[in-house]
Amino acid sequence: MSERPKVVILGGGLAGLSCAYHLKQPSVVIEKSGAVGGTARSFLINGFTFDHTGHLLHLHNPYTERLILKLLKGNLTLRQRSAWIYSHSTYTPYPYQAHTYGLPEDVIQDCVLGFLNRPSLPGSRPDYSHVAFDQWCLSTFGEGISRHFMFPYNQKLWRRKPHAMTADWCGPFVPTPALEDVVRGALERPSTQFGYNTSFYYPRKGGIQVLPEAGDADVQAHDGAPAQPPEGLFDGAGQGPHPEKQFPQRHGVHETGIGRPGPARFFVFGNPGSIFPNPGSPFTGWAFP
Ligand SMILES: Cc1cc2nc3c(=O)[nH]c(=O)nc-3n(C[C@H](O)[C@H](O)[C@H](O)COP(=O)(O)OP(=O)(O)OC[C@H]3O[C@@H](n4cnc5c(N)ncnc54)[C@H](O)[C@@H]3O)c2cc1C
Repeated sequence: MSERPKVVILGGGLAGLSCAYHLKQPSVVIEKSGAVGGTARSFLINGFTFDHTGHLLHLHNPYTERLILKLLKGNLTLRQRSAWIYSHSTYTPYPYQAHTYGLPEDVIQDCVLGFLNRPSLPGSRPDYSHVAFDQWCLSTFGEGISRHFMFPYNQKLWRRKPHAMTADWCGPFVPTPALEDVVRGALERPSTQFGYNTSFYYPRKGGIQVLPEAGDADVQAHDGAPAQPPEGLFDGAGQGPHPEKQFPQRHGVHETGIGRPGPARFFVFGNPGSIFPNPGSPFTGWAFP
């Protein structure tokens, strides 16, 4: 009889699989959905591979980069970001705050003048994490960029009013260009790239599913039968607040996959990744990794 696993890991998402991979003792991963990957899963439908939305690998941590390159054994390609924003019937490059060229003149004027006249907040820039998101936007980008993009897009994405959330999540995710970049981006379309995700890895074949399947963990999949943690495991100290209490307004993600026979290319809408701040469109964005 084989030795009993010492450690039981609930959930075969990337966190559970990574835990199994890095543990120095035997373990078993119990996965309720019938396949590993969790949010980072792909589905093969009529010969097309669809991810749970595009899962792009931004490998900033050198250890993680080495590990993933090793696990995927060359089945990776490095892509340059091509992300666009659709507003006022035109596409402008991401991020909006550094690329207003091409928008209507009055919008550009709002954005540049707003940036020049942005109010300052008490405290030291850029650590305004303690302030409400609307105040952070106004002091970082000014009134025009906030009104034309930051407020409508983020309200649509997070389903919260800009004053009802904090700015602590913005960190590296919301680029904060300097005045020169804002002005240059209003006069021409510069090639400068901003943000943490200017390039990313993505599997050549098999969608993101190849990553969770690469680790060789001992997985027991239980279709539709969630494993229950042993009674009493989470009693006592360290138990966090109930998730529903912590995130009373959580919302879901609806995915629509579109497949086309033939070589992969960005044929339908012209731009591989686009976001839509306008409240009139029912979605926040699309991506073709
Ligand atoms: C729409 C979207 C897009 C994203 N895009 C990116 C991206 O481009 N790049 C990036 O780096 N990250 C991206 N992320 C984030 C990334 O997907 C997650 O951070 C990561 O996959 C989470 O892994 P996890 O293992 O913590 O959780 P999950 O992926 O949620 O895995 C949890 C697993 O546990 C299983 N489980 C739950 N309860 C039980 C139980 N009781 N018994 C047994 N099994 C159970 C679930 O079935 C699931 O398989 C994105 C996330 C979303 C939602």
